[in-house]
Amino acid sequence: MSEKFSATLRIGDLNDYIAPSQGCVVSLKGLKATSNKPDKSEQKPEKGVSVTDPKHTEPVKISLKDCLACSGCITSAETVMLEKQSLDEFLSNIEKRKTVIVSLSPQSRASLAVHFGLSPLQVFKKLTTFLKSLGVKAVYDTSCSRDLSLIESCNEFMTRYKQSYSSDDGKCKSSLPMISSACPGWICYAEKTLGSYILPYISSVKSPQQTMGAIVKHQICQKMCIRPDEVYHVTIMPCYDKKLEAARDDFMFEEEPQGLQITEVDSVLTSGEVLDLIQSKSVDFKALEESPLDNLLTNVNEEGHLYGVHGSSGGYAETIFRYTAKNVFGKEIEGPLDFKIIKNSDFREVCLEVEGKIVLKFALCYGFRNLQNIVRKIKIGKCDYQFIEVMACPSGCLNGGGQIKRKPEQSPKDFIQSLETTYMENVLEADPFENPFIKSLYNEWLDQPGSEKAKKQMHTVYHPLVKSITAQLQNW
Ligand code: SF4
Repeated sequence: MSEKFSATLRIGDLNDYIAPSQGCVVSLKGLKATSNKPDKSEQKPEKGVSVTDPKHTEPVKISLKDCLACSGCITSAETVMLEKQSLDEFLSNIEKRKTVIVSLSPQSRASLAVHFGLSPLQVFKKLTTFLKSLGVKAVYDTSCSRDLSLIESCNEFMTRYKQSYSSDDGKCKSSLPMISSACPGWICYAEKTLGSYILPYISSVKSPQQTMGAIVKHQICQKMCIRPDEVYHVTIMPCYDKKLEAARDDFMFEEEPQGLQITEVDSVLTSGEVLDLIQSKSVDFKALEESPLDNLLTNVNEEGHLYGVHGSSGGYAETIFRYTAKNVFGKEIEGPLDFKIIKNSDFREVCLEVEGKIVLKFALCYGFRNLQNIVRKIKIGKCDYQFIEVMACPSGCLNGGGQIKRKPEQSPKDFIQSLETTYMENVLEADPFENPFIKSLYNEWLDQPGSEKAKKQMHTVYHPLVKSITAQLQNW
């Protein structure tokens, strides 16, 4: 096995990934792939030190030599995948004169904005200047593709809701709760650890990263009159798990007539890796000029304002809640939704009451401890939520393992607060159904939400993974 990679996982990251039924489930959150050989002078972790020891706060170094190929952590296939998803690979594709397209997530935009003390709009424009100076052709915005994911999610929820309440006794049947699917850390955990009982509850809608991938490789290539294999599509994301997501076989398609395998997203860079790139080029980022945005797939209006949904982890619960309240119960909800804290700030719920009866009950469930509780309830049939927005990271995507680290003088709480505030700074709240770019995609390509074309391009499937012998032995 290659020794070219080393991984640094902080104990705090690992704590959230401990599964009771398995030794330990580790995602790529907090993992940094590097093309340098590991520093041999670095001390190995002490033998016998438990990674769950809360008193032990030093980072634990794990190299791929430690991989047991147990389906719970890093596999050799994932090693190869990480090699393909590095800054070196990104720069080499620019050198090869591929048409390089970058799609920026709003969480990474916020991370860079907090780091540099700029607004999200300034970051977007300066990053466009920087990336284009390297040879990137266009820089788009995954808030735009997220609107498409949200519309498909609203439609899927309505279908499941109708199925669930169609029986005479009015009781919920098994198609609810619907669980969001945008977090690959959660999907990885569900497939590898929970398996077949939970998968039917997970929304089949692709994440904003992958909907953007499908749009770029199908529609944008067609508009630009170039073949999809000539385009190298890179996303900038808040976590390493997005690299795993991009590498799934489900997100490849065959190009006609050559039969080439095309990947929707060729590479994922984290917010931290983009900062590394800026620093490696010795660029004074704050002093860069602000370029006009590529408005073909960017949520920017004619006045130059960014827009998008509220909700720093995608706004799934909020958007579907409002949509259902309006379309099923005729209730247009003004102002922010009243999410009530249940166990902690990462587990909140919102209800809609009609004539004294709760008719909608949705939850936000972030972090693995909360997530494990909710899946236990689903398993024993005691979950009364109709929709759950699940995110693997405590505090959600703004706190992803690929985000730029906080400065030493900032407390974790203040840091998350500043990311939350910056996230929507001068960003207008807007209804995804009113997005003109998404409307035109339906008109020109997908027909309507939930159509056969939309299902083919914007939905996916999940696979329960059989645990390897090694993983099963761990339970002895
Ligand atoms: S919560 Fe967001 S940042 Fe964290 S693993 Fe999931 S998608 Fe990535």
